[in-house]
Amino acid sequence: MCAGPGHGTSPARGTAPRSRHADRRAAALRDVARRGLLTDETPLLGIVDEDRVRARAAELCSAFSRPEGAGSAAPGMPADLHTVAVKAAPLVPLLELLGDAGLGCEAASRGEIALALRAGVPPERIVFDAPAKTRSDIRFALARGISLNVDGWQELDRIDEEIGHGAAAGTASAVTGADAAGTSGTASRIGVRVNPQRGAGAISAMSTATETSKFGVGLRDPGAREALVEVFASRPWLTQLHVHSGSQGMAMEQMALGIRDAVELAEEIDSRAGRHQVTRVDIGGGLTTNFSGEDDAPAYAEYRAVLEEVAPALFSGRREIVTEFGRSLLAKAGTLLTRVEYTKSTGGRRIAVTHAGVQVATRTVFAPEAWPLRLTVLAPDGTERIAPAVPQDVAGPACFAGDLLARGRLLPRIETGDLLAVHDTGAYSFSTHFGYNALPRIRVLAHREEAGQIRWRTYRDQQSCEELLAEAGAGRARPLTRE
Ligand SMILES: *Cc1c(COP(=O)(O)O)cnc(C)c1O
Repeated sequence: MCAGPGHGTSPARGTAPRSRHADRRAAALRDVARRGLLTDETPLLGIVDEDRVRARAAELCSAFSRPEGAGSAAPGMPADLHTVAVKAAPLVPLLELLGDAGLGCEAASRGEIALALRAGVPPERIVFDAPAKTRSDIRFALARGISLNVDGWQELDRIDEEIGHGAAAGTASAVTGADAAGTSGTASRIGVRVNPQRGAGAISAMSTATETSKFGVGLRDPGAREALVEVFASRPWLTQLHVHSGSQGMAMEQMALGIRDAVELAEEIDSRAGRHQVTRVDIGGGLTTNFSGEDDAPAYAEYRAVLEEVAPALFSGRREIVTEFGRSLLAKAGTLLTRVEYTKSTGGRRIAVTHAGVQVATRTVFAPEAWPLRLTVLAPDGTERIAPAVPQDVAGPACFAGDLLARGRLLPRIETGDLLAVHDTGAYSFSTHFGYNALPRIRVLAHREEAGQIRWRTYRDQQSCEELLAEAGAGRARPLTRE
């Protein structure tokens, strides 16, 4: 499925040398300063390094390519599908870029599906994973050939009704015209999400494979495994298993064990059904991102090596693999750049007051221990400040005391008018705005290198005051009469 530079030809190495990414970013930030793009009206920008996004996507594709696979899969080899989790970066131009590189989209809502379709991602490359799909969500996906993973038994009942599983039960197909041979009559690949119940990672809110996680069918619950095997045996159109054990903070080995559980279940289903039924295993995303240094670590090749070790059958060539990475694909390609509006000292603590806070770094503000972010202090011209480090708080613009990006962080002394770069914010950050204090969604710019020049484009403009007002219900006419 993957296309673009590097795939199938470059070795599965980590990323470009660490200094290249950092150098390119430093040049881009200086360029932003030189162009005067940070103003009173837009004192905060999100910045995407497209070259780094492309490099990481190519690294993913080549890390998972099968031995024979040069470019697309060799004849007879399964064609894997790498999707990006839309929730990590719901920006249409970014999804377009990834779509052009051959990736698909993992969507968790109708809105995310709409973004993926608008980005030109073909329906067969979209996987729909929402846990609370309505009947119309299900119909929408089935009618368009979008793959979906069923989250539980009640949802499966609804799918049965939609595709007329009941050829046997005599129900007519509501939407897609299932035939008596037991095919679904839809182009959608339909799977079931299982929860291997292998325990939490380092961050409980990010762990989806605990005993009681809200996602999927618990594989170790009494009778569940047997029920799953039965359900597949009587529904030849169920052809996929899905497992996603969590995000940030999950060890690779732990995720791999959950994936092994899914592959073993696929084998059991096939042997019970007496046919090659489970043709695709969706291994989710969740690879941890390095927030403490520059490297794209771990490399996708390292993850593949762990998977080869723990779940070798995944690479048997009998089943296609789907991946759904978000943070590990995009976080390190994004930077927030804010102007320091004021500096002050309170109770002996130096505080830099910036425009980057809870609206763009929500997780860091609410759970600072779990989500520390690297910061770099720049002079007003965008060059890095080199000075002895002193402990400082870095505050955001929101009106609550906890709106801090860092507490007591050792940084070169920050001056009013300086710039502050907040690193590794390309996923779940500036693209995933938190509405508070009527702060606008921020402008997002992207850069790429062309013939040694930095080329810029706008991914999204800052939300205008008019748009903010409309969002706040300002367009509503007052009632003509008062009750
Ligand atoms: C959030 C999510 C992902 C992406 O997780 P990352 O940690 O960003 O890689 C993939 N699949 C599912 C089902 C998810 O909920």
